[in-house]
Amino acid sequence: MIPFFDFKREYSTLKDEINKSLMEVFNKGIFILGEEVQNFEEKFSKYVGTDYGLGVNSGSDALFMAIKALGIGVGDEIITVSHTFISTVDAIYRNGANPKFVDINPDNYCIDVLKIEDNITDKTRAILPVHLYGHPADMDPILKIAEKNDLYVIEDCSQAHGAEYKGRKVGSIGDIGCFSFYPTKNLGAYGDGGFIALNDESTYENLKILQNYGQSKKYHYDSLGLNSRLDEMQAAILNMKIEYLDKWNKRRINLAKIYNELLDNSLYKLPSVEKYSNHVYHLYVISTAKRNEIKEYLLKKEVQSMIHYPIPVHKQISYSSLNLNYRLPITEDVSKKILSLPLNQWLIVEEIEKICEIMNNYGDIYD
Ligand SMILES: *Cc1c(COP(=O)(O)O)cnc(C)c1O
Repeated sequence: MIPFFDFKREYSTLKDEINKSLMEVFNKGIFILGEEVQNFEEKFSKYVGTDYGLGVNSGSDALFMAIKALGIGVGDEIITVSHTFISTVDAIYRNGANPKFVDINPDNYCIDVLKIEDNITDKTRAILPVHLYGHPADMDPILKIAEKNDLYVIEDCSQAHGAEYKGRKVGSIGDIGCFSFYPTKNLGAYGDGGFIALNDESTYENLKILQNYGQSKKYHYDSLGLNSRLDEMQAAILNMKIEYLDKWNKRRINLAKIYNELLDNSLYKLPSVEKYSNHVYHLYVISTAKRNEIKEYLLKKEVQSMIHYPIPVHKQISYSSLNLNYRLPITEDVSKKILSLPLNQWLIVEEIEKICEIMNNYGDIYD
């Protein structure tokens, strides 16, 4: 079986470094808000290109806290997409705000910037683009619209660590960048983790209080807070792994190139990369009218594939009571055709070649 993820491959390669990082934490005996987190916050915000950075519990928390820290709440609206992971939208609702869904660009699967302005109302407070699959959203038009309408821009970078838009790293372009370190992401922890990258000092100070029970000094609580911190063990692993991020992204790009060269593009629509960006291929997503058949066929041939995502957010049962009445034709069409093929830094060239051969033989009478 060619697996979609296989974390054992990583651990068997990095075992000594991972064990060493963890042993240092155990020997220091500090598990929450210690040196590892502080070092990682400095390293990762420098990497992204922001003045401040805060490690939190998860990407979901990063989004929730970013929205809250900007003072967006009950009755406010945030423009975003329905073609995303559920957390992007949950974070809006959990703040009492409402998402306003905009359709996506059918080629890069990110927000269709031409459809944003029509959806701005007097309640709109922010635009929340998602750099989906590792491909940056078209940020310049988004920034322009935001400036003209006095809106914040919150970037969901959970799938795009290291991706660049016109030479700038995602997460440093809008007001706040939110990241996830879920194990499968381009930079993944060995458990949950998240990050908020930003330049505004006072928002950063508010976020630091928010993440730590609303505590301004020990046992003094000035506001209702959360418990959302990156822990020392995860930070130690991330401090080690971040040194590999660029190398691993390059590896993903090289493997994607092999897919692009070998897959028969008359059968499959391959991922496209806009001129303004690089693509760090968190996922390698093709599109085909025969998606379900191909997925089943691949499994029979011992190749795991996945769908990101099969049901658009506005059609999820968790939101059914809201009667979300959207017509998002591209989002809905794409969700029926997309298929994610295995792609990560631990796969070998021969595996990608094998998958391409199997894919190109689909429909062969001997199969
Ligand atoms: C993974 C992901 C998140 C959530 O991250 P968690 O760390 O799992 O909470 C949010 N948005 C997108 C687009 C993601 O891919």
